Amino acid sequence: MESFDVVVIGAGVSGLYLSKLLENSKTSYVTLEKRSAIGTYGPRIISLETLKKLEMPKEKLIHPIHKINFCSSDETTLKIDDKNNRGYVVNLKDIEEHLFERINNKKQIKFNENVVDFDLNSRILKLLNGKEIKFKKLVLATGILGVKFRNKLGITHPRNVFCYSIEIKAKDDITTIIDNELANGFYGWVIPLEDGKIEIGYGSEELNIRDKKEIDGRLKSLAHLRKYKFKKALRVNGGFIPTGTINKRCNHEWIIIGDASGGEPMLGGSIHKCIDEARLCHDALIQNLNGETISMKNYEIEWEKLFYKDLVSQTKIRQILDETDNNKINQVFKELQGEKIAGDGLINDLFRNVIMNLKEWYFDKRYNKFNNPPLHRTDPFYHFVK
Ligand SMILES: Cc1cc2nc3c(=O)[nH]c(=O)nc-3n(C[C@H](O)[C@H](O)[C@H](O)COP(=O)(O)OP(=O)(O)OC[C@H]3O[C@@H](n4cnc5c(N)ncnc54)[C@H](O)[C@@H]3O)c2cc1C
Repeated sequence: MESFDVVVIGAGVSGLYLSKLLENSKTSYVTLEKRSAIGTYGPRIISLETLKKLEMPKEKLIHPIHKINFCSSDETTLKIDDKNNRGYVVNLKDIEEHLFERINNKKQIKFNENVVDFDLNSRILKLLNGKEIKFKKLVLATGILGVKFRNKLGITHPRNVFCYSIEIKAKDDITTIIDNELANGFYGWVIPLEDGKIEIGYGSEELNIRDKKEIDGRLKSLAHLRKYKFKKALRVNGGFIPTGTINKRCNHEWIIIGDASGGEPMLGGSIHKCIDEARLCHDALIQNLNGETISMKNYEIEWEKLFYKDLVSQTKIRQILDETDNNKINQVFKELQGEKIAGDGLINDLFRNVIMNLKEWYFDKRYNKFNNPPLHRTDPFYHFVK
C-alpha cells in the first residue's frame, strides 16, 4: 500500500497551492482529485495582494478594476471611480492551471482519484476504484462537495448561497446590486470580461430555487440588469458558494481548508482565503511532522489571528444588511449619493464602508434600532456578535 506523510483531497486552488508548498519543503505527499483535469471556468475578482501571492503572470489578467458601482433596488448608484488599480478580473481556470504548472513533479497530483472514505484510527483512505492509501496527516481541500466528510468529522455546515450567472455581449463596470428581495442573503453583480462580454449574476439563500425560468427572471429583474433583459445568454454558470464558517478546523490527524471550511459571510468562498489557509496549513503540518508541536492546534490559533477580526466585522455587516428591507437601503443610498466612499480595497472593504454608513446613518442616528440586533442565524460566529 502506498504511504505518504500528507494526503491532500482536492486539486482546486487550495489543494494546488498547498501542493506546491509541500513540494518546496520536501514533504512526501500526494494530492487526489476526482476530476479528470484542472480548470474550473468562471471570472473571479482578485486583489493585487492576492495576485502577488499567486505569482500570476500579467498576460493572464483579464481586466483591471478601477471603477466599482454599488446599486440599490431602485437604481440609486454609488460610484467609485478613481485612478487606483484595485485588482483584476481573472479566470479561475487560468489560476488553477498556473498553480498546476508551478508544481515540478506533476505525478504527485493524481486525477480520476475519487476518495470515498477514510479511517482516522488506521489512517487509511479508500478510493472509488478500490485502492487504499496510508497517510500520517489528511488535508480536506474538497470545496463545497466535501459535505459527507464534514459530517463524518463532526463539523457543522456553513451556510451556502446558490449563485447563477450568464455571459452576454455588452460593456459595463463592476457593479454590486444590493436587493434583499430578489437576491436575499447575497447580491447581484456585473463583471466585465474580455472581448466585449460581461457576466451578470446573482446569489440567493433560497436554496429551493431550482426553476431555471424563475432564476433567469429574478436575475433580469434586478436593478441595473433590467436593461440586459433581451440579451442572449452566451454561457450559463451556476453553483453554490459557502458564506458561513465552520466550528472545527483541525484535529490531530486532519486539517480542512478552502471552500470546504466555509466562506466569508459577505462575499462567500474566496481565493485569498484558500491560499492563506493553505499556507497556515502547510506550516502547521510541517511543524507537527518535524515534532516541533504535539498537535496541529497551532493551525486553529494562527487561523484566528489572521481571519477572526474580519470575520466578526463581516458577520455584523451581513446581519445589518439582512435585517434591512429594500426601502431602507434605497433611502440610505440616496442620502449617500455624492459622498466619497473611502477605502482602496476591493468589494469587501467597500461593502463594509457602504453598509457601515447604512448602520450609522439610518439606524444609529435616526432610529437607534440596531444596537441589539436579533440573532437568528445558526452560524457559529453569530454568537460572537453581541
Ligand atoms: C460564482 C462564483 C463566483 C466567485 N467569485 C469569486 C471572486 O470574485 N473572488 C474570489 O476570490 N473568489 C470567488 N469565488 C470563490 C472561489 O472560486 C473559491 O473560493 C475557490 O475556487 C475554492 O477553491 P477550493 O480549492 O477550496 O475548492 P474547489 O475549487 O471546489 O476544489 C475542490 C476540489 O476537490 C475535489 N474533490 C471534492 N471531493 C473529492 C473527493 N472525494 N475525492 C477527490 N477529489 C475531490 C473537487 O473535484 C474539486 O476539484 C467565487 C465562487 C463562485 C462559485
